[in-house]
Amino acid sequence: MADCDLCGVAIPTVCPVKVFSPKFENSYPEGVWKGLCGSCLEKAKKAYDEATESKKTGTFGKCNLCGAEGQLQDVEINIPSFSKGYELERKKICMKCLEQSSEAYENKDELLGEHH
Ligand SMILES: [Zn+2]
Ligand SMILES: [Zn+2]
Repeated sequence: MADCDLCGVAIPTVCPVKVFSPKFENSYPEGVWKGLCGSCLEKAKKAYDEATESKKTGTFGKCNLCGAEGQLQDVEINIPSFSKGYELERKKICMKCLEQSSEAYENKDELLGEHH
């Protein structure tokens, strides 16, 4: 089992997404791998497309995925909750992470080994 790095859901396989964390820049200059579930990937891709289309600059802050400081986009994530089933939480993610997630989403069937 693996945990999604955004919503925390435990699923058999998460989709690998490469992020460039400033915290690990020296030890991992090539980037580090995060794992996202299918639902979060889809949300990230949507947010990426919307931001690209509307040229939204976003708000300044610290990215919830890679920890880098910069312009962030709002992404609504369903967090599994024991009491309510799901809770909607607004995460802030940088364009770099969104771009990587969006790319991973395009290849997610392959990455997750799903065959239709
Ligand atoms: Zn998730
Ligand atoms: Zn980021």
